[in-house]
Amino acid sequence: MFWKLLDDLNFIARCKKYNLGLWQCPNFLFLAMGFLTIVAMFGTYLVSKWFDNETVTIVSVSAVGMIIFTVGNFVVRGFEKVAEANIMKSEFISIISHQLCTPLSAVRWNLEILETEANGKISEKQKIFLENVKKSNDKMLKLVSDLLEVVRIDQGRSVFHMENINLVPLAEEIIDDLRHLIKLKDVEVIKKFDANLPQIYIDPKKMKIIMENLISNAVKYSYDGGKVEIKLYPEKKKVLFVVRDWGVGIPRYQHGRIFEKFFRSDNKSRYRTEGVGLGLYLVKAILKHFSGEVWFESEAEKGSTFYVSLPAI
Ligand code: ADP
Repeated sequence: MFWKLLDDLNFIARCKKYNLGLWQCPNFLFLAMGFLTIVAMFGTYLVSKWFDNETVTIVSVSAVGMIIFTVGNFVVRGFEKVAEANIMKSEFISIISHQLCTPLSAVRWNLEILETEANGKISEKQKIFLENVKKSNDKMLKLVSDLLEVVRIDQGRSVFHMENINLVPLAEEIIDDLRHLIKLKDVEVIKKFDANLPQIYIDPKKMKIIMENLISNAVKYSYDGGKVEIKLYPEKKKVLFVVRDWGVGIPRYQHGRIFEKFFRSDNKSRYRTEGVGLGLYLVKAILKHFSGEVWFESEAEKGSTFYVSLPAI
């Protein structure tokens, strides 16, 4: 608490971190405004006491007003600069992602054509190289599509194609899509799907993002040879999707930050796994649109359980 307060007051370091000059930095301006207001009020009180003259009092009160107005103006400009930087950052991400999406998709198409061997046979060794190129390309495509989704959601531009769907076939499809990762980690997937699961009304593509992120995380952050349990069952008027692993877990002191954009926990697996910390941010942001909820329980070295609940039809 004390250190946090001290850190809050260390405005020079904070302004440096935000790359803002002192007179553009809201942290400094707030302090300056508070200080100036107190000094100006006290000065007005002394002036009106000494001179006992209406005009002097009015002039000094007007001067206080002007000081507050001027510093207030700096504060507003400081906030504007921060807001502008935020907009520019989103636009930058959006432009770069759009520009990367087309060539990356073209690479994928061409690789698939090569793989059909319609234009000549390829050797077993060449097939391995092609497979490696495809995997790297797919990783870049996933990153670009995650970034684009984040920009769309943040700007309220996401398009939803709603349907009544059953989550069981979708879960099976995702597990199949992740079979290479599951094999690589030698993870056993235990499925517990309720046979009478009610349907939900949702955009299947967005639901796929949610389920894919939670299942792939459970596999990624499991120890090699571990197990992952995936459950789908009804509860009251909701459908619950639960993914449990017995992997590295999340340290308690980082629980509060896990759904933040670009956050990666500093558990040891971070250095062994790929990711940029957008998955859980997307899961939470998407669920907000469908009146859904996500929460989790986790302990370092013991594993994690992520819960998603959505209204049943
Ligand atoms: P990414 O996996 O790409 O880093 P996410 O947003 O999906 O990003 O997750 C954020 C962070 O939360 C991860 O970097 C990881 O540290 C932690 N995390 C998420 N799921 C799990 C899990 N099942 N077990 C342990 N840590 C997890």
